[in-house]
Amino acid sequence: MNFDVIPKEAVSVFDRLVSRGFEAFFVGGCVRDILRGTPPHDWDITTNATPEQMKECFAGLRIIETGIKHGTLTVVSGGRSFEVTTYRVDGKYEDNRRPSEVYFTRNLRDDLSRRDFTINAMAYAPGYGLVDIFGGREDIEQKVVRCVGSPDLRFHEDGLRILRALRFASVLDFSIEPDTARSIHENRSLLKNIAAERVRDEFFRLITGPGAGRVLLEFRDVISEFIPEIRPAEGLEQNALDIYTRSVRAVAAEERGDVYVRLALFFHGIAACGAWEQQGGCSQGHEDHGAELSETVLRRLRADNRTISTVKCLIRAYHTEIPGNEREMRRLLASLGEQNTRRLLSLRRAALAQKSGNAQAELEKITTAGVLLEGVLSAGCCLSLSELAIDGEDLIRLGMRPGRRIGKLLSELLDEVIDGKLPNEREALLRAAEKKINKVVK
Ligand code: ATP
Ligand code: MG
Repeated sequence: MNFDVIPKEAVSVFDRLVSRGFEAFFVGGCVRDILRGTPPHDWDITTNATPEQMKECFAGLRIIETGIKHGTLTVVSGGRSFEVTTYRVDGKYEDNRRPSEVYFTRNLRDDLSRRDFTINAMAYAPGYGLVDIFGGREDIEQKVVRCVGSPDLRFHEDGLRILRALRFASVLDFSIEPDTARSIHENRSLLKNIAAERVRDEFFRLITGPGAGRVLLEFRDVISEFIPEIRPAEGLEQNALDIYTRSVRAVAAEERGDVYVRLALFFHGIAACGAWEQQGGCSQGHEDHGAELSETVLRRLRADNRTISTVKCLIRAYHTEIPGNEREMRRLLASLGEQNTRRLLSLRRAALAQKSGNAQAELEKITTAGVLLEGVLSAGCCLSLSELAIDGEDLIRLGMRPGRRIGKLLSELLDEVIDGKLPNEREALLRAAEKKINKVVK
């Protein structure tokens, strides 16, 4: 355990509280991550100082009243922000959602008891040491997600915790303690009360984690609470199960943890469940169904347009021929852009995990395409109209009237540049343009 990694700016916030006689502890995710040996991404502090007292302590520092009602202030120290929260317990839970009211408490133990999982319910103070009332440290060693207190009670208080448990299990690659897991299965319908945005955030983090495969398989019933499309169809249990398992296997085989690629693999895969029914077992040619399905689900989860269009683009491109030479790679890059081309290659690599036969030849093709991609990019080839050495103004100077024809002609020229039939040079392009214009006139 190495707590020397706490940044000095965070320690200085802590010191301000302690030097004025208050208790203060680093708490939650940062303590968990230090014990796991991974660098924390933020440093939350919990204290017995009230928000008013905190403000006095932090006089001279920039403070933002982020969640003052809940006792949280954001303090900026040395250019970094830290959340400092008064010890609190949650008020009444209604509709299985987090409470609107909180109560401050003088007691660190109460504050730790309201936290969701043992691994998230530890505190640490320099000079004092670790406070671990619920056995969080041991659960980290055993790689286990376990509720603080009775799982049934805790999930009834806040249904989102069901999905948080799955998310931590996936991201940390932990298992879920059996009684917590039982309760998750039994109480899964509580997710109905949770806002779509919050479900989405947790699901996206879950699907990108290293343990996603395991979690998605073990908790299919929970996922189906908000993606009922993955429920096995009546009488098709066996086949549908295989399709789901295969889809999840591909998700887990994706190596970069790219949310778009993983979502595309997931939706493309599960779309086969419907296709299965219609086509009597054929799982090919369901890109349109997959793209549509992904849009329906992602809109329901209030995903942003960029996510939806990227996932759809990848699903539509799923069966694109992998480029075997530079010209084909330039074409693919021109149609998908660099990021999505990279994603398509990792999607195809991951999809091989679904194949039962020998995938060596396909794997080699994808590897070669990766080399071609770097080559084309480093050669700085022209791949879009904005990189073309001439533009619409040039065509107008050649005598064309403004209008749609101009765009069409530029696209034709771009295609020829991409195909290597024309160099991306002004003179050559102008000459070629002139020829095309004259042809039309004649
Ligand atoms: P990360 O930031 O890496 O996702 P984290 O543990 O910091 O992990 P947050 O969602 O930032 O997670 O929450 C901070 C802490 O607040 C948690 O560690 C946990 O102690 C507590 N917490 C957050 N959400 C809940 C909840 N729904 N119920 C109970 N405690 C919670
Ligand atoms: Mg956090």
